[in-house]
Amino acid sequence: MSGGANSPMFEQYKALKAANPDAILFFRVGDFYETFFEDAVVCARELEITLTSRNKNDAEPIPLAGVPHHNAAGYVQRLCDQGYRVAIADQVEDPSVAKGLVRREVVRVVTPGVTLDPTGLEGSRANWLVAVALADDGVGLAFLDASTGAFRGTTARDLPGALAEIARMSPREAVLGPGVALSLPGVTVSPLSAGAFEEGAAAAELGGILDAPRAGALCRAAGAALAYVRDRLGGRALNVHGFATWSSEAYLVVDETSSRNLEIQRTLIDGKRRGSLLALLDLCGTPMGSRRLADWLSFPLLDRPQLRRRQLALGALVDDPGLRSDLRTRLAEVADIERITARVAQGTAHARDLAALGRSLAQVPALVVSLRGHADLGVLCPADVGSDIAADILDTLVDDPPFATNDGGLIRQGVNPTLDELIRITLDGVGIIDRMEEEERAATGIGSLKIKRNNVFGYFIEVTTANLHKVPDRFLRKQTLSNCERYVTGELQELEGKVLGADSRRKALENELFRALRDRVQAASARLLAIARTLADLDALVSLAEVSARHDWTEPEMVEEAVLDLVGSRHPMVEAALSEERFVPNDVFLDPETRSLALVTGPNMAGKSTVLRQVALIVLLAHVGCRVPAERARIGLCDRIFTRVGAADDLRKGQSTFMVEMAETSTILHHATARSLVVLDEIGRGTSTYDGLAIAWAVAEDLHDRIRCRAMFATHYHELCELTETRSRAVNLQVAVSESGGDVVFLRRLVEGAASRSYGIQCARIAGMPKAVVQRATRLLVELEKHATPPGERRQLDLFSRAAPEPEAEPPEPVADPLRELLASIDPDALTPRLAQDLVYRLKDLV
Ligand code: ADP
Ligand code: MG
Repeated sequence: MSGGANSPMFEQYKALKAANPDAILFFRVGDFYETFFEDAVVCARELEITLTSRNKNDAEPIPLAGVPHHNAAGYVQRLCDQGYRVAIADQVEDPSVAKGLVRREVVRVVTPGVTLDPTGLEGSRANWLVAVALADDGVGLAFLDASTGAFRGTTARDLPGALAEIARMSPREAVLGPGVALSLPGVTVSPLSAGAFEEGAAAAELGGILDAPRAGALCRAAGAALAYVRDRLGGRALNVHGFATWSSEAYLVVDETSSRNLEIQRTLIDGKRRGSLLALLDLCGTPMGSRRLADWLSFPLLDRPQLRRRQLALGALVDDPGLRSDLRTRLAEVADIERITARVAQGTAHARDLAALGRSLAQVPALVVSLRGHADLGVLCPADVGSDIAADILDTLVDDPPFATNDGGLIRQGVNPTLDELIRITLDGVGIIDRMEEEERAATGIGSLKIKRNNVFGYFIEVTTANLHKVPDRFLRKQTLSNCERYVTGELQELEGKVLGADSRRKALENELFRALRDRVQAASARLLAIARTLADLDALVSLAEVSARHDWTEPEMVEEAVLDLVGSRHPMVEAALSEERFVPNDVFLDPETRSLALVTGPNMAGKSTVLRQVALIVLLAHVGCRVPAERARIGLCDRIFTRVGAADDLRKGQSTFMVEMAETSTILHHATARSLVVLDEIGRGTSTYDGLAIAWAVAEDLHDRIRCRAMFATHYHELCELTETRSRAVNLQVAVSESGGDVVFLRRLVEGAASRSYGIQCARIAGMPKAVVQRATRLLVELEKHATPPGERRQLDLFSRAAPEPEAEPPEPVADPLRELLASIDPDALTPRLAQDLVYRLKDLV
């Protein structure tokens, strides 16, 4: 292949690229998939592969980056993980016979939401595609996971409502119908023709799917989702059996920002699952259980009887450690039945998949026996244990079959008499030939006669030149060599046909028997999915029970009244992360009649954010039906949890603008109800002192006067504490510290009353600020406090803000070696990630 940008090959490339403008084009050239131009730049960056160029000597060389075709799957997956689509352009005619330029076509487009390669799928995470459609009845949202065949949706009243439901599901990919103006950060939005969203087309697409919507926004969305995925799968069957509709009012809403702040699915600091609430809760034995657990966290229950049932089942498991460990041992042997079943439907399941499926099903009867007799665990018993499917698989396949399904070695002996015979012949072949050699030696009297084999004419008899006179007529000469002659006989040819033929017939027959087995399993896929669902529930519940038992969590009492009464409560993840230090438990009491708004003060690093988040996390866990980290908990049902962190404290990069903070706060004021829990952490911090205080004050008043929800408001504006003088249901709480020798000692205890000082300078010292700077700051503070400042503002002055007066021109005390001094003063254990980052900047400055 040669030529510049105008060569025939590039004309072909450009045509394919023009037809797939939204995808990175993997263009097959020989043993490589090549990418060109902008695609090459993206691939080089994302895949860490070399960017070169074609026609280096041209005026405009073409950027080029390629990957070997045999391990392209991994690269495609990585691009999908980054949110890209990849169009695979293969050679569709044999290059050796093609006249001129070999024809190429895009054979499939791989996208983040429709992944086929099991190695690219995160087991613990569902792989949702969302389709969004508008109609008179609202915004239809349909979610389809091609990897399991799960299919469900809801109708939202408006686009903000739709966003909240989309956040619940965290899809990987989206297709948007006409007129849907949604921005979905982190989601790949893919094109789909408007026609797919038309009601008639959508309803037809949904065809025989159980409980599928027949009209309206949801029907349009569901039909479009299905059409899109079917198209992406290149006609392969989907394992979709039914459609489940949910109503957003039935579940607690935790919007995307709150979910991120609470580190439910991943941590703020590195976006990893490790360290999140989900990671703490997930001791599941199967990927299905892990996905179910994530689902439960996204759909916290608001139905008290349903919650009670989950609590009772969990309680039965917590109280019986023997049962729990027995179940966990068995669940650990269970494979991902849902995804295997989906691969069976798509015809991509291999023998190992089926063997794993058989072994998994074999665990089920024993699980049922363990659960039987527990009244509260009855619902977790699958009605159908699938013994017949397990037996069929295990009786058909050998214990440890190979990956390849066309190379034999899959099927057990005794399954098929013809196969057994073929195997015997193949294995015996060698022996039969040996016997024939003996017989021919005896018959001809040629002691040195040998039967050999080569690839040219298979088996032959070899006789040395000295013995040629003894060769009988029935030997047919094939070849003459310098010291011997080679012959075949009719008998030998017949045997050869049998032995060699047997081997290939054996392979074909095994493949056929395997496919037949796969078809039988496919026919049982609805049953398999039902079993998988029950096992996922069981696994998720056993995991919650195990975590509850390990950490000594307590069953919350769920009540109608909008109260929040926690005794000895802890932050689940912070507690789990502490090693030496003990987590200090705290009591929190909020009540709609007497104290609904708590203003929380205390110096930096005292533990304000921790106690706020722990309250929100406990409320969430309680609605999942899980036990909670507390000695005692009484929690009124809650419709929404809102948490917002002031911009200055927000670890997200690039977005920490005051505007975002205000937009988020306004969302809360628009959507919170008397049933909600609102947790605000240092809101108003991102602007000047007066602005910030004024806004914080007005927000707190609105929460108290109008919304009247349970709310906790951490603030560094100590003036805000005066709110309790005019607002009857507002209360001041502080995270206690004590002072010893000019140092702050953090007690981590939440007590009544407002903090009197913010201990900013002490914090600066603990954070490793150079001694000279700390001393200087102390003197400045005294100076500043002498200045005429508004009452109450005095202790709050931000030394670095525009509002602060210029420090006097007093030279700082000389420091012998600032770098050394700074390093010596660091207490690594006292550093938060944020302080650590600041510190690195300071160190760099000093250098
Ligand atoms: P603030 O928001 O007041 O600045 P944080 O809530 O961020 O303080 O807490 C700072 C650190 O203190 C946390 O990272 C945690 O390690 C520790 N901490 C907070 N609360 C407790 C507690 N109750 N018991 C033990 N350690 C705690
Ligand atoms: Mg904080």
